[in-house]
Amino acid sequence: MADPKLNGTNLLACPFTIPDPSASAPELLSRWSDSFIEGPPAIIISPNTEQDVVSAIKFARLNNLTIVPTGGRHGSALPIHSKVLYLDLKNLQSIIIDKQKEQVHFGGGVLTGDLLRQLSDQGYFTAVVNSNAVGVVGSLLGGGNTSVNGIVSWMADSVVSLRVVTAAGEILQIGPSSTGDELALFNVLNGAGHGLCVVAAVTMRIYPLSSLNLSPASKDDATPSIWSRTLIFPTTAVDAAVDAFLAFVPPPDPMNLIFGFTRGPPGTPLAGKPIIVLTGTYYGPTSEAEASPAGASLLNPSLVEKALMANTVQVPFPNVNNGVEAMNAHGGHKSMASARIARLSPQNLKAAFAKFLAVTERYPDAARTAFMFHNFNPSKLVQFGTTPEGKGKFIEGRDRGFFSIGVLWCTEPETRDALVEFFDEATAILQKDDEQDGLPPRTHSGVMRFLPGRRDLLDEERLAELDRVQKRWNGDELFWSPYKA
Ligand SMILES: Cc1cc2nc3c(=O)[nH]c(=O)nc-3n(C[C@H](O)[C@H](O)[C@H](O)COP(=O)(O)OP(=O)(O)OC[C@H]3O[C@@H](n4cnc5c(N)ncnc54)[C@H](O)[C@@H]3O)c2cc1C
Repeated sequence: MADPKLNGTNLLACPFTIPDPSASAPELLSRWSDSFIEGPPAIIISPNTEQDVVSAIKFARLNNLTIVPTGGRHGSALPIHSKVLYLDLKNLQSIIIDKQKEQVHFGGGVLTGDLLRQLSDQGYFTAVVNSNAVGVVGSLLGGGNTSVNGIVSWMADSVVSLRVVTAAGEILQIGPSSTGDELALFNVLNGAGHGLCVVAAVTMRIYPLSSLNLSPASKDDATPSIWSRTLIFPTTAVDAAVDAFLAFVPPPDPMNLIFGFTRGPPGTPLAGKPIIVLTGTYYGPTSEAEASPAGASLLNPSLVEKALMANTVQVPFPNVNNGVEAMNAHGGHKSMASARIARLSPQNLKAAFAKFLAVTERYPDAARTAFMFHNFNPSKLVQFGTTPEGKGKFIEGRDRGFFSIGVLWCTEPETRDALVEFFDEATAILQKDDEQDGLPPRTHSGVMRFLPGRRDLLDEERLAELDRVQKRWNGDELFWSPYKA
């Protein structure tokens, strides 16, 4: 049904919906977080082709609307209101694997789980984030921290080229060999790229799974698999858990150490009780994982006896992200907070834990809030950063091997405010060691802080370049940008 207030629906050759302004927006646009949904958007357009994206841009200009492109709908702070054109890229789903060139070409709406599975079915992998429901483009625009950081660096470092539709309605193929403003756009898109244009398609490098020498999932299942060891500790064992997490800095290239403060999930014996989770995953052969000092430390009986539970599994490669499925639930007030850290001391990690206990005790609806830490080997990030291609990309602090990820999750707005304050305070504590070493605080643009802004995003020079590129490519703010000055 055409809305008399909107002009030019005849421009649109693809599916679109004009929502009833009184409809419940969270129901209409189910997404990871209900925060910042003021009301339904003016229109929801689902392009089938890049030409449809060009038409949507013309339509937005005609009606004075702001475009918010969406992929996996797992971003945390996208504002939706009556002047928004919600560009749902769900139909841009093609995935084409080019084994000869060791590249994959895919559409701007592809989800992580689909890319991961299609590649692994063909014996390949690339750098992807740890949630199947997250959009691949949404994550690489923020750099894309992954479980294969130690092997192939962040997602953005595997990006070969991008096909974009600009605010002027031009379609461009851009990559490291582009020049001038187009190269500048490509570089910003790889690391701080949200809110500049629509990425209609991507080409990324892919890597043979055989290069990882993974062990089979079991004696009856030859699927390549990841060694994964998890220990769950009571709060009384915080010292041992923290020491085990920080004992190997950096861990071996194929290893990820993930440490988390959370509360037991509903329906389990530990429901609502604070727990500490320590997981080691190894993207290499199991024998190598268990023989490495870091892997062996997680099997050490003196650590195991302090844990409530200790478990080792071989996770078939296509299922590596299945463990985080519960975190993909839509709805509620959710957001993320993150920091990139070079040095982390046990006392500061424990101080952050004490704050976590206090805030989740005080606000029972925050029980699903989690504070996680990733310890990985940053040598590949550093190495790539020395290449001409890597130097240009918008990834800073390449030598920082710790990544903190706070998941704020609650139902009440008052709790949300308290959690924001908690994460700010806790993050400042975690950054104290870097501060002592003279390093500036850095966040991760892909895991945007609640009400993202641009605090601690980039150094002054890169921020100025970000503003210049914004002005050049999105000067009249057709696209909503989280990094507006
Ligand atoms: C459960 C969970 C786990 C996560 N794990 C990781 C992780 O392991 N590593 C990591 O680095 N990050 C992780 N993230 C953060 C995630 O990468 C970002 O939130 C990402 O921006 C989400 O992308 P999306 O497409 O799902 O979300 P959306 O809300 O659809 O989009 C997010 C942003 O990307 C833009 N965007 C999306 N697609 C396009 C496109 N095709 N063209 C132009 N702009 C586009 C949107 O405009 C918006 O600004 C995680 C998030 C969640 C909720």
